[in-house]
Order: sequence, then C-alpha cells, then structure tokens
Amino acid sequence: MSSVRAGSLWVVATPIGHRDDFSARAVQTLRAVALIAAEDTRHSRPLLQHYGVDTPLIALHEHNERDAVDALVRRLLDGESVALISDAGTPLISDPGFRLVRAARAAGVRCVPVPGACAAIAALSVAGLPSDRFVFEGFLPPKAAARRTRLQELAGDPRTLIFYESSHRVAESLADMRDVFGGDREAVLARELTKLFETVIGEPLDELAARVAADPDQQRGECVLLVAGRGEEVDARLAEGQRVFALLREELPPARAAKLAAAITGAPRKALYEAGSG
Ligand code: SAM
Repeated sequence: MSSVRAGSLWVVATPIGHRDDFSARAVQTLRAVALIAAEDTRHSRPLLQHYGVDTPLIALHEHNERDAVDALVRRLLDGESVALISDAGTPLISDPGFRLVRAARAAGVRCVPVPGACAAIAALSVAGLPSDRFVFEGFLPPKAAARRTRLQELAGDPRTLIFYESSHRVAESLADMRDVFGGDREAVLARELTKLFETVIGEPLDELAARVAADPDQQRGECVLLVAGRGEEVDARLAEGQRVFALLREELPPARAAKLAAAITGAPRKALYEAGSG
C-alpha cells in the first residue's frame, strides 16, 4: 500500500470481540508494513490469518517492552515500517505500547494511529451516562484496601467514571463502589461487548451490586464498569447527611451516628464518618 511510509510506527486497533470490527485500513496497513509488534503473537495469529495478513510478527509485551524498544526504534530509524497491535482493541489503552510510542516519538519517528475498537469508548457510547466529560481509570487495584482508597479519591469527581474490571472481581468492586459512592449513584455494567453474550445493564449501584452478587452469569466474560459522576443531587444529599450526622453525633459515637445518618438521608456512610469524626 503506497500510503504506508517506511520508517513510521503504525499503532493499529484490532477488534474487541466481533471480527468484522477490523477496519479495512487496519488490514491494509498490517499487510503492508515490514514487521508487526504484537502483545501475544499466538493470540493474534488466527485473526491475522483470517484477514490474509502474513507479515512477520515479534512479541512486545509488558515483560520485554523495555528491552525490545531500542531494537524496534533502530529498525524504524533504518527505514523499516512497523505496526503495533495488542491482543484486543487499541494498543496502549490498558495494554502495552506506551514505552515504544514514547521512544519512537523522542527519536523523531512518525507515529500514525489507525483507530478502531476500544472497550471503554464502546461502553460509553451505549451506557446512557453523560459523555461530554469522562475519566478513564483503567483497572482498579486488585487489593481491597487500595481499591477503596482509589474510589474515595474519585468520589467527588463530577465526570462519568470508566473502569476496566476482571470478571472475578466485578462483584467485589461493585460492592465497594456502592459503599463509597452511595447506593443511589447510577452505574452501568457493559459485558462482552460485540460478542454473543453482550449485556449492558444500567441501575443504581445498590441494585446493580446486588444483581451481580446474586447472578454468577453476570460475573463472566470481559467487562467495563461505568459510574455517573457526582451530581448536584449527591451534594444536596451529602449536605443533609452531614446535618443529620452532626445532630446525632451529639448523642452517639461517630460510627453509629454515621450509620444512622446514612440510613436516614442516603448519603454515603464513609463520607459522613470521614468528614465528621476527625
Ligand atoms: N486495549 C483494550 C481496549 O482498547 O479496550 C483493553 C485491553 S485490557 C487488557 C482488557 C480489558 O478491557 C478487559 O478486562 C475488559 O475490562 C475490557 N474489555 C475488552 N474487551 C471487552 C469487551 N468485548 N467487552 C467488555 N469489556 C471489554
């Protein structure tokens, strides 16, 4: 393909499920480059074979990226064209490639996006949550304490929050989100997008957390969690919660006062406790 310039790094999105979501330009680019750097060559080979791409592959994953980058940048500077792909979706988005793109740009190599599927954006496009401003948080920390700390840092953010989550932690994460953000906050679970069991469920966090905890089928496959940003109604509820907490606090220990104030007003218990017991 004449438009593939030698010495450029092509950052190419692959499908997140449905094979037909591979763009014609992505396929042409992958056929035309000298080399494809792939997160997992064994994973990508069937997809590439399906599309008649027989370009040589090398592995570029999180464990070898640091070492592989220098050699790849040298080849780019020698005039070879290289494409970067990951197992699914857009490289660098919770996937390897950042070091390569950074080093290539620093060396003056032209980096060209060949855009396509990205689970976060696909989920946002059907979630029905505000999409004018959003924040992509990638994966939450796997350990409960670190996960809750991260959620607390995000509790006041007015933008829609987007998380990737592994299926075996989705129930735990939803329970933590309910506790930290409050059960009324709207959330969406987008599972298996573009695949056979695609499911998109939008509910307040208390209902969604209960539904997922009770249904092992909702804890399978790949998922994106989206949570509405903190809205004005949340501010009003918190203010009311703080008022009730302050009254109860005159008679009760802080933990008990926070629990009751949260039950009466719907404000998040943790936020009341932390704001009022210091
Ligand atoms: N680079 C990819 C992208 O552009 O979306 C993301 C790679 S990350 C390692 C994999 C995570 O993305 C999964 O654990 C899941 O949270 C999300 N994901 C990927 N494909 C998905 C799909 N078809 N449906 C829902 N979530 C998906």
